Amino acid sequence: MEETTFIMIKPDGIQRRLVAPIIARFENRGFTLVAIKLVHASESLIDQHYAELTSKPFYPGLKQYMLSGPVVAMVWKGKSAAALGRAIVGATNPKESAPGTIRGDYCNDVGRNVVHASDSVESAKREIALWFKPEEIAHYAPCDLGWVYENV
Ligand code: GDP
Ligand code: MG
Repeated sequence: MEETTFIMIKPDGIQRRLVAPIIARFENRGFTLVAIKLVHASESLIDQHYAELTSKPFYPGLKQYMLSGPVVAMVWKGKSAAALGRAIVGATNPKESAPGTIRGDYCNDVGRNVVHASDSVESAKREIALWFKPEEIAHYAPCDLGWVYENV
């Protein structure tokens, strides 16, 4: 329940006015929102965020896409938050994302896949530290936790 993950609505998600529907997916699943901000990222932030991908042929396009407008950066908390966050978001390539996932419901192309989710607990820790200061993370217990989880 203490696990956190980094979820980001990419510039196309904002341009297409999908902020509320995307946030609703996580709220409805019982995740707890502990940090959120609208950020127009710097080049260096995107290079660090996608450090593993900077040598890929698609990276210049990915970087241009990520710098084309603001993103909504969020930290969500919950049981198995990283794995469940990936499941809610769906496969990287929208052609393979199942209907019912965010990408499976809203996307067509891998280069316009509206949302990011950390791929592991370790990536989540790294990405949260990159995008947020510790004091930007809220600490509170929602009153419905006993209804979301069998054992709190
Ligand atoms: P994710 O963790 O599911 O977002 O996927 P990756 O970490 O592998 O890639 C990061 C992001 O790079 C993806 O969400 C896509 O926006 C983009 N990307 C990955 N692979 C490709 C590709 O083959 N072509 C293009 N144009 N973009 C890609
Ligand atoms: Mg990734």
